[in-house]
Amino acid sequence: MSGIHLQHLHPPFELAKGKTLSRFLHYLPGPCVFHIPGKNRSQCRIIVTLLHGNEPSGLKALHRLLNEDFIPEVETKFIIASVAAAKTEPLFSHRMLPGQADLNRCFGKDIKDLQHQLAQAIEAQIRGFSPQAVVDMHNTSGSGPAFCVSTQATEQHLALASHFSHRMILTPIRLGAIMEQELGGPIITVEAGGAQDEVADRVAYNGLISFLSAKDVFVSKQHVEQLKMPRRVELSEGCDIAYADVPLADKAVTLHKDIEKYNFGETPEGTALGWINNNNLNALSLDGDANLLTRWFRVERNQLMTKCPLKLFMITTNADIAKSDCLFYVVED
Ligand SMILES: [Zn+2]
Repeated sequence: MSGIHLQHLHPPFELAKGKTLSRFLHYLPGPCVFHIPGKNRSQCRIIVTLLHGNEPSGLKALHRLLNEDFIPEVETKFIIASVAAAKTEPLFSHRMLPGQADLNRCFGKDIKDLQHQLAQAIEAQIRGFSPQAVVDMHNTSGSGPAFCVSTQATEQHLALASHFSHRMILTPIRLGAIMEQELGGPIITVEAGGAQDEVADRVAYNGLISFLSAKDVFVSKQHVEQLKMPRRVELSEGCDIAYADVPLADKAVTLHKDIEKYNFGETPEGTALGWINNNNLNALSLDGDANLLTRWFRVERNQLMTKCPLKLFMITTNADIAKSDCLFYVVED
């Protein structure tokens, strides 16, 4: 049993009504569950958001829905996770608090620290609701279009994704994320777009209206393109990275400052992505699979080039995130 308890919030939600977003955030008591009554009380849909404190689109959508007295089709629970990280100044700038583990890498693990206990409490709470469907709402760190992520591509998962985006990434990678867990109903992760982008807030809000208003949530809203089996390009141990227009002598890897422009687009064979000081691929690793790395990339006169047509996504230009998470995801185009 987890030692962390989620706070429960019920109507009339005075903490949100007529309040600014930052006021609303400050009134949140910590990790909590909003219980929003639906027209049909026999089913339940769940939204988990703010697993990362710097990804506000889901919370902004909740704030707006509460202010509009939105009535969902079925019982709706919003689980708000990393409240303390989000509240830490500057607001919505901390993925997690310094020194803590990334909450969305803590699911499904039997570890006793606070972040893992919070993950366990959220998981247990979701299972307790016996949800029809679960949506885990995020933002990407860089700018870019919305997409969904799932570990399964059943009709149900694709239909859930179709409320939010026409793209779904099907990933076999296991990191300890909530979407990898067995929760009693299908779960997808939604990446609404960049945390700073207004369009991401609209995607989150409109998608949630669609998801929560649907009589049958598993009726598809649009065709969803699947991107299968992406790999993560990571920095090797001890290597540093920067983003610039010229190679930096003191960094193992320098990527072009505008590398985000390749997000979900086509990256043809022979595209120069940046520079590698040592003139080989040792500074990079690809989910530990060196064979794919050398099939997809080469280094020529210190330039990092694509060796075949690729599709890159979730590209970051934040060196800290590149170092602690990954540079980007990639599939063969
Ligand atoms: Zn996130």
